[in-house]
Amino acid sequence: MSVPTPGMVVIIGSGPAAWTAAIYAARANLEPVVYEGEPSRDMIPGGQLMWTTDIENFPGFPESVDGQELMQRMKEQAVRFGTRVVGENIASADLSTYPFKLQPSWSDGITARSVIIATGARANWIGLPNELRLAQNGGGVSACAVCDGALPFFRDKVLAVVGGGDSAMEEATYLTKFAREVVIVHRRDQFRASRVMADRALTNPKIRVEWNTQVAEVLGDEFVTGLQLRDTITGRERELEVGGLFVAIGHTPNTDFLHGQLDLHPNGYIKVFAGRTCSSVPGVFAAGDVIDDYYRQAITSAGTGCMAALEAERWLSHHGVEEAVSPVLETAETQPALTAD
Ligand code: NAP
Repeated sequence: MSVPTPGMVVIIGSGPAAWTAAIYAARANLEPVVYEGEPSRDMIPGGQLMWTTDIENFPGFPESVDGQELMQRMKEQAVRFGTRVVGENIASADLSTYPFKLQPSWSDGITARSVIIATGARANWIGLPNELRLAQNGGGVSACAVCDGALPFFRDKVLAVVGGGDSAMEEATYLTKFAREVVIVHRRDQFRASRVMADRALTNPKIRVEWNTQVAEVLGDEFVTGLQLRDTITGRERELEVGGLFVAIGHTPNTDFLHGQLDLHPNGYIKVFAGRTCSSVPGVFAAGDVIDDYYRQAITSAGTGCMAALEAERWLSHHGVEEAVSPVLETAETQPALTAD
């Protein structure tokens, strides 16, 4: 199979990191091609901000901005400077040869002189059989209150939110617009969430908390009717009647398609050099949530997207754009040390 060359820099992803990298790369005449991904049950082109309504902390929007609108505007800005966009996932990559080879999910393979990975992270599920079945069947289990909470199905019902982080607080607070009552189910006796988010949830009269509690099973055949709860201290089980379940228990980085070709942290996030965006493979850079299990903010993602494009540009100009340098020949002396686990 012939391997067409689409551009110098291929950017994988479509969140704030990817679009910011594309804006910088396009303005630097690096002819970026963005593989923005395909919609699936728990992922959507544009990334996690597509599931957020009011973003109040992205600088420049004093009245807040809708997540979908922000992503659309970033994409338009990247396209305006010549970025090409492909609505496919990258299914696999060969980063051991140069130019790098990337295999989109259904079209012919492509090559790239530099790659920026900005594939983000996806929502985690508890892993209960009924949870996943009902989530897939539209039976009232969701990992995204902002996408699904306003559906008529959930109106005036008692809804449960699992988790104790900022996401759980945000989802619970959001759901009070539609629900009769929101019950946060958390496995410990204190939240992981920031003080301000936790206080907002705890002072909301429509929200109550089931502390030291985990969901043992989701009840219901076609639709959620309740939860089997287990006390994490006593082990005692009981049922809670609910009309919907929202799971907000963190995220997993989208790095499976790399099949270990880059150094990853034990939790699957891509390792980058301290304070930089270069990965363990010279010429391959990573940005956004796929390198960040700590800040995970739109603004920090955008910042590292900018860094990745600048690093790609400098790396390409250092090595000569046309002069294919084998990244495997580049020695450790030319790169700083990777961050510790
Ligand atoms: P998170 O901070 O990792 O919290 C995950 C929560 O889920 C924890 O409370 C954890 O319990 C619980 N959990 C994990 N696995 C579980 C399981 N199998 N069963 C039951 N509970 C489980 O994730 P997050 O809330 O998605 O937040 C991620 C990052 O995004 C954070 O940095 C956060 O500040 C940020 N964020 C910010 C905003 C905002 O500022 N507007 C909104 C959302 C998220 P334990 O506490 O016991 O570990």
